[in-house]
Amino acid sequence: MVRRRTLKEKTFQRRVARQRIDLLFHLAEKEAKKHRFDRADRYVQLARRIGMKYLIPLPREYKYLVCKKCHRFLLPGVTGRVRVSRGKIVISCMYCDHHRRIPLREKPSAILK
Ligand SMILES: [Zn+2]
Repeated sequence: MVRRRTLKEKTFQRRVARQRIDLLFHLAEKEAKKHRFDRADRYVQLARRIGMKYLIPLPREYKYLVCKKCHRFLLPGVTGRVRVSRGKIVISCMYCDHHRRIPLREKPSAILK
């Protein structure tokens, strides 16, 4: 019989999962800077898997470091290219040549300042 987890347990599990994702991305960045891209890709794979298991979306700053198509780690300037064109940030993957365009929008709060 499967015991259902209490809300408290779930909250705790998700907090630990978030910490692990954080750690894995730090390791991925560290290894990618040493040009160990195989390790970086593996860390991204693990972080994504943890996120899927505990229903935690990858934080935005990490999402930009992963290719949406081949799920590999993108180190800007080495395995990923970051350009700004026509009001969009274009992040390209050097492995599969997939482009991701993120519109640049002015936030309402930025105008007020
Ligand atoms: Zn790719």
